[in-house]
Amino acid sequence: MTTTNYDVIIVGAGAAGLAAARVLQRHGKKVAIVEASSSIGGRAKTIEAWGHNCDLGAHWLHYGTRNVFLHYANALSDSNYELIQLNDDYMPFDVENVNLHSDSRVSILNQDASNFKQRLRHVENIFAGDVGFRAAGNYFSTNSQHRLLSQFYVNSVLHGYEPDLQSAKDEWDDSIGLVIGNFDMGKEWSRYSNSDYQSSPWNTEYNPDHVCKNGYGNLLKRSAIDLFDGTKVNPVKLIKQTVVKIIDVRNDQVKVITNKNEELQAESCIVTVSNGVHNSGPSSVSHIKIGGWTDRHTEIYQNVPMGHYGRVILNLGQDIFEIGEHKYAFIKINNNSNELQALTDGILFITNVFGSNIVYADVGGMLAENLVDKNIPLLENKIIQKIQVSIKKMTGKDISLNKNNIISTGWSKNPFTLGSFASANPKTDDREHLFSDEFSVINDRIFFAGEAHHKTDWATVSGAHQSGCKTAQELLEKIFRITALKDNCYTNRHLANEYDKPNDCKYLNDSI
Ligand SMILES: Cc1cc2nc3c(=O)[nH]c(=O)nc-3n(C[C@H](O)[C@H](O)[C@H](O)COP(=O)(O)OP(=O)(O)OC[C@H]3O[C@@H](n4cnc5c(N)ncnc54)[C@H](O)[C@@H]3O)c2cc1C
Repeated sequence: MTTTNYDVIIVGAGAAGLAAARVLQRHGKKVAIVEASSSIGGRAKTIEAWGHNCDLGAHWLHYGTRNVFLHYANALSDSNYELIQLNDDYMPFDVENVNLHSDSRVSILNQDASNFKQRLRHVENIFAGDVGFRAAGNYFSTNSQHRLLSQFYVNSVLHGYEPDLQSAKDEWDDSIGLVIGNFDMGKEWSRYSNSDYQSSPWNTEYNPDHVCKNGYGNLLKRSAIDLFDGTKVNPVKLIKQTVVKIIDVRNDQVKVITNKNEELQAESCIVTVSNGVHNSGPSSVSHIKIGGWTDRHTEIYQNVPMGHYGRVILNLGQDIFEIGEHKYAFIKINNNSNELQALTDGILFITNVFGSNIVYADVGGMLAENLVDKNIPLLENKIIQKIQVSIKKMTGKDISLNKNNIISTGWSKNPFTLGSFASANPKTDDREHLFSDEFSVINDRIFFAGEAHHKTDWATVSGAHQSGCKTAQELLEKIFRITALKDNCYTNRHLANEYDKPNDCKYLNDSI
């Protein structure tokens, strides 16, 4: 076994690992990233399909101006990376009340959408002042209402809220099914937690969602590619298609052993794998044995499990939905038929992505859990049938799906992610534990980062990025006694200040 020495070894080349590597590189540290898959980006991954860039994982740049990648894309001034701001137009299709073949279909749907929004406002008003939600009144966008509704639902069902809320709940069940069915984490309803939805909203009127023409995965890759540029000083070493199996601390050195039986040695290590990987058992190909890991770690991580959310990309060859580009459409799930099961089988359609005839069918819950990568055994597959039936109900059109016009991503079955993003079990403070000293570093040398480790922006690429920066800065201070530069990513305040003037931004200049 040969041994190679670094200052820091990073496990995982997703948004968190890449951000950590940049911070360490800028402080002159010799860094290696070990990545199990064949490319960088992790759960932010774009592929080219049918001549278009398709996001298999992360798609929305959440949190508007406080998202580092929004400023990065704008500063690139490259039309390929143009960002488009979304207006959050959600279109519910109510199969029971809409005559799909009538000429007045569009006006009925518009009416339905408008009724839906009004009812959202009604619940929003009930909530204003009741749970002390940070935003108020008109400033709720539809996306933040998802969280509000979920919280409302969970509180009323699980904790028996007051009668007026209960009646509002009854009135709202079908609409709630409409919105959270699609973003469902695949949990039993009793396992839902406010933490799953309650955080600061992804999308607000002041900080709206954007999408990138070239894809979020490509944007992340573009921002990181220079890290590995051998013509520059101190390039980061990328060790791809290599799985970390053991991390241990001996004689004040971290030893990392891979599936190829290589031993890497460093002063310190940052582990950025998903909570799914942390929670996988020893027989999983991605599982890492970490020296100093205790039963308490296992317990905490198991209470912050992965949610399930996946994407099926359909090349339909025609504008089936006829409601425009990048609109969101989903079937309204009615309260009367096996409601709870129905809720966990939501499908959200993103229509006509960037004006192509490509549609994203985003699935939540059990559908997402069962989704596998690419090779769907067509016709036998419940998910495909469900998508076909849903499209038929919504548009009246029969679509034929075969292996040439369909791609899927099974993040829940991917051994290196084992889910989509972190969620949290109810009645525990376990997300909070992840931020304590006890859980952010083991044996004083093994640090943790990743989307689950960001306090407010978890479940997002920008949260993962910030977590990676913050962990690397802490590591520099603890291990190398270096006061780390806190620019570019540490706090939202920093981001806002720094990126108001993109030309002055060192990080951007470094990257381009
Ligand atoms: C379908 C889907 C849709 C999403 N939509 C959005 C969205 O619209 N907007 C948004 O902001 N976020 C979205 N997210 C969440 C976002 O993608 C993640 O929060 C973020 O990319 C996580 O980054 P990370 O660095 O924490 O982890 P990851 O990206 O998972 O990186 C960890 C890396 O570690 C590697 N790894 C795992 N085990 C090992 C091992 N043993 N050895 C070596 N390497 C290993 C993995 O291959 C991976 O590359 C979505 C996620 C999914 C799945």
